[in-house]
Amino acid sequence: MTPQELNDLKKAGKIAGKALAFGKDLVKPGASLLEVTEKIEEFIHKEGAELAFPVNISCNEYAAHYAAKKDDDFKFGKEIVKLDVGVQVNGFVGDTACTIDLSGKHKALVEASVKALDKAITLVMPGLELCEIGKAIDAEITKAGFKPIRNLSGHGLAQYHTHSAPTIPNFNNNDDTKLEEGMVIAIEPFATDGAGLIHETKNPEIFNINEFRAVRINFVRDVMKYIEKKYKNLPFSKRELLLKFTEPQVNYSLKQFRELGMLEEYTPLIEKNSGMVSQAEHTLLVTKNGCEVLTKS
Ligand code: MN
Ligand code: MN
Repeated sequence: MTPQELNDLKKAGKIAGKALAFGKDLVKPGASLLEVTEKIEEFIHKEGAELAFPVNISCNEYAAHYAAKKDDDFKFGKEIVKLDVGVQVNGFVGDTACTIDLSGKHKALVEASVKALDKAITLVMPGLELCEIGKAIDAEITKAGFKPIRNLSGHGLAQYHTHSAPTIPNFNNNDDTKLEEGMVIAIEPFATDGAGLIHETKNPEIFNINEFRAVRINFVRDVMKYIEKKYKNLPFSKRELLLKFTEPQVNYSLKQFRELGMLEEYTPLIEKNSGMVSQAEHTLLVTKNGCEVLTKS
């Protein structure tokens, strides 16, 4: 990474941390999910950065990938709320998440993922095998009386890509791949009182385009060009497209992208036994002797 790229990465991380802290204070009973989303987006833009992915706000048994719809009328009550924020500067990404317990009943569950993340961070250094991170996360969460979600994991981050190699497991998956100096990774333990597995649902609001291909219809090409310029391969929400295009245009374009095999879709992820879910996440840079947490608030 060049010094300029490192600067961009650090800036993205710092703004992501601040945006998460800002957003965390907005999540209160009676507050609107859509308004919280818009305020966080505005905060990120005012700080001089762009979204790396739509603000994810997932409640209760939903672990991830819920994003506000265009006319979303959801208001917070007593949920356990996962807020996951991604910020990019020239494509370099800070990815960070926390859990807000509005029920007052899930303090231990919230702490379990925070402690697992803290523990994992103390271990990170070049040469550490990935399975050791998973093992430590599993141990912390199990000790607290919960289960880690095994089919959700942390990941590497690359320019304009929110998920790249390596996969950072939340349990011992026997992966003996070693961390290397200079890697940028997100560690994100999820804890649950359910089965420890998620499954996909329907009606995605979050998408990205993997590969831009030729399309024949003019307005579909306009939508594609808009996405290519603004997001490149990064995820966007349908709501964001609807700020620019009409609903029939957006729906038809998404259908075309899907048929052409260009579209990646992120459906909301729900815990298998409808268990409550907590999450904690930071983006880190692996350094010579350990790591630097880039998304501190
Ligand atoms: Mn995240
Ligand atoms: Mn992540």
